[in-house]
Amino acid sequence: MRTYHGRIVSFEDPTSPREYGYMTVEDGRITSLSKERPSIMGELVDYSDRLILPGFVDTHVHLPQFYSRGMISTSLLDWLEKFIFPAEMKFSDPGFARKASREFFSTLIRNGTTTAMVYSSSHREATEIAFEEAMRSGMRAVIGQVLMDRNGPEELLTTPKRAKEEIAAVASRWHGFDGRLFYAVTPRFAVSCSMPLMKTAARVAEEMGLYVQTHLSEQAEEIKEVLRLFPGVSSYTEVYLKAGLLGRKTVVAHAIHLSDTERRILAETGTKVAHCPSSNFFLHSGTMSLPSHERFGIVVGLGSDVAAGPFVSMLEVMRDAYYANPMDPFKAFHLLTMGGARVLGLDGRIGSLEAGKEADFVVVNPEPLASPDDDLWIILSKLMILGDERNVTATYVRGKRLWPAE
Ligand SMILES: [Zn+2]
Repeated sequence: MRTYHGRIVSFEDPTSPREYGYMTVEDGRITSLSKERPSIMGELVDYSDRLILPGFVDTHVHLPQFYSRGMISTSLLDWLEKFIFPAEMKFSDPGFARKASREFFSTLIRNGTTTAMVYSSSHREATEIAFEEAMRSGMRAVIGQVLMDRNGPEELLTTPKRAKEEIAAVASRWHGFDGRLFYAVTPRFAVSCSMPLMKTAARVAEEMGLYVQTHLSEQAEEIKEVLRLFPGVSSYTEVYLKAGLLGRKTVVAHAIHLSDTERRILAETGTKVAHCPSSNFFLHSGTMSLPSHERFGIVVGLGSDVAAGPFVSMLEVMRDAYYANPMDPFKAFHLLTMGGARVLGLDGRIGSLEAGKEADFVVVNPEPLASPDDDLWIILSKLMILGDERNVTATYVRGKRLWPAE
């Protein structure tokens, strides 16, 4: 048993966070939270000049694009062809995939990310390596092999039959592993997937109870291409609806240029949205309207979308979330933590610091941006606008300190 002492803050409520001074953790779970020093504490870990926040959740990130950040373009389709497909092809080399995966997870952890929903490359072996390295890192992750069967380099394409076999093989080993790793069926987006491939993907996900992740309505040029490739559908969202890909375990990234009819489809199917503001600014894709999604009750979390998003740090992504949709820092931290957990359907286990939940948390140093005893709203506002990797002191998953390693 250990008791952590610090300025402990949890964001179950988007308007009024809860604050404590002590958090007791046993066997990876939070057993109690209190303002006063508890009578039974076990070992005391003193973070008295630090904040202790729920672990950050990144709901959308591409592992094989880790080295491709910062290469500018204003056209998603050109950017994919010029920079991303060549970068992802390198993952046919298992040695390279191993090194990149290791660096990827350790960097996320150093930035305070405790849970991530991850796109692997189109390679089965690189995807298995990503799972192995996620396991080794101690992080929580949902990972899937990217599926494409058209409009990409030959080496990255699959077939519905092969996709089905590869998903089944990798997911049967890793989905649910240690209650910490999960598989997501991952058709890249409608431009690079035929209807038979998407239908197959949806069927396997349904049969095996897997997550689904894909991209939706990011850029005008992309939407035009989708409507050209699928004549007879009335919207981008309808393509995924027809394929059977939408549902409670589905997370779509971006969802920027949607009609209310499309928002209604997302809401009715229980589909979740990964909002990736840094990526949207970087590629000049447009601005997702958070209030429009919220009006329909769509659950939204934040995603870095590395490498279209240049920042691994979710604190930096939060700054762009504020620029995209002005919001109170309490709300921004709520989206980052509880929002992310709800997107993944894991809010019963993580996303906030509450007794009974698993102890995923980040120790944050507010200095030099703010003093640890400043008003909480001011500290969080400064972290939201100016925070980055340098503010992260330690990252814990299930009560184990992953960074700096115990
Ligand atoms: Zn993406």
